[in-house]
Amino acid sequence: MDFELEWTPEQQAFREEARAWIERNAPRLPDHADPANLTREEYERQRAFGRLLGAKGWLYPTMPAEYGGGGLSMELAMALEEELDRFNMPLPPYYDTGGKLGAAAILVWGTEEQKAHFLPMILRGEIRTWQLLTEPESGSDLASARTTAVRDGDHYVVNGTKIFVGSGHGAEYSWMIVVTDPEGERHANLGWLMTPMDVPGVTVEKMDLLFVGGERGAASGIKNTVYFDNARVPAFNLIGGENNGWKVAGTHLEIEHGLLRSSVRGDPLTERVLSHARNARRGGKPLLSDPHLVDRLVDFYADSEVTRLLHLRNYAWRSQGRQLTYEGAQAYLQQKRSQLSKARAVLDVIGPQALAEAPDEWAVADGHIEAHQRAAIVDQHPGGTAEIQRVIIARRLGVGREAREEPGRLR
Ligand SMILES: Cc1cc2nc3c(=O)[nH]c(=O)nc-3n(C[C@H](O)[C@H](O)[C@H](O)COP(=O)(O)OP(=O)(O)OC[C@H]3O[C@@H](n4cnc5c(N)ncnc54)[C@H](O)[C@@H]3O)c2cc1C
Repeated sequence: MDFELEWTPEQQAFREEARAWIERNAPRLPDHADPANLTREEYERQRAFGRLLGAKGWLYPTMPAEYGGGGLSMELAMALEEELDRFNMPLPPYYDTGGKLGAAAILVWGTEEQKAHFLPMILRGEIRTWQLLTEPESGSDLASARTTAVRDGDHYVVNGTKIFVGSGHGAEYSWMIVVTDPEGERHANLGWLMTPMDVPGVTVEKMDLLFVGGERGAASGIKNTVYFDNARVPAFNLIGGENNGWKVAGTHLEIEHGLLRSSVRGDPLTERVLSHARNARRGGKPLLSDPHLVDRLVDFYADSEVTRLLHLRNYAWRSQGRQLTYEGAQAYLQQKRSQLSKARAVLDVIGPQALAEAPDEWAVADGHIEAHQRAAIVDQHPGGTAEIQRVIIARRLGVGREAREEPGRLR
């Protein structure tokens, strides 16, 4: 089956319009191997570009135009993202878990008043959001969250701790899983809350980590612990109603687990490794004269392509409104597994030089290879580990269960 898309003349015309606009407006920024090196000034330029995109509805192009999105088809959104890729610029061009994840949950579960209040400011890039799910005692088993939100008049009073969250440059809101009924049954005791980050009682503390990688904007280079100490959040901000948070979370988790990637671009690492291998020598001979290393490179390439094509298949099927069940977790599992197998192949092909960090003179591809080696391990965790993707696949296939698990609602 050929998953590659063909473009109609109208789609091609849109692509050309997008290309010209992006060339005029996109900031030219350094391609940092470690996103933690992004300066404040560079970040502000990303934000400014995000607001320009937001004003055109291109920041979240498939979201409904009535709420500030672009109302574009998946195909046009894909053309837009491919053009942005040429500037190494994802959508959104800075860390914001709002539009594709949080706003999708608000769109499915919010009241009309909540949608009118929250969606335009997210989709136009006026605010940035973080997702606050993980806690010291609750990661893979998200339903065991302990952070409480107790109703007090027109507010919820929030107490607890979230870890591994956010980015280095702040956010105006966080959407979070909280316990709204401490006596309630598992899953029926949770709420999904949009929390302003500037209310008294919210403290953000940077975590000291090995590395948080990823492409620009997708990850930030920094993760935080957030403490809530009697933080008062308007009751209006509870999305999906009382004790319904687990179902609301099902929407954004469904997307995060392998339905998030909309661009069809391959992994930029592949070209970096291939280009190094084409020019490098070992023991006085061209690297590629060693058939074992050529085999390893082919494994590397095949792994990258399988990941890309599984995401592309999901993208195409989702745009056709097909009900997906295990496919998201399947693509995400493949992505996580291939990160590790590619790290192994990189070590075989490039050798110890793969571990030289920029600006060391031995660093390959301006440090991007070394950054990948660290990110490959770190990437096993965000959005649920490889084991959790396997659990989801098994449940959706009905393996070891009488009834197949239903996916989260996307509409
Ligand atoms: C770079 C990075 C970014 C992140 N960003 C965010 C963010 O923005 N917001 C947020 O809320 N969280 C974020 N996280 C946290 C992430 O979601 C959690 O790390 C992840 O869900 C795993 O939880 P845990 O670390 O508590 O590990 P645990 O849940 O304690 O798991 C430990 C080990 O046990 C395995 N395991 C657990 N349960 C099972 C099971 N049922 N079957 C088989 N094996 C199992 C896991 O696979 C893992 O290997 C981020 C993490 C990282 C590393």
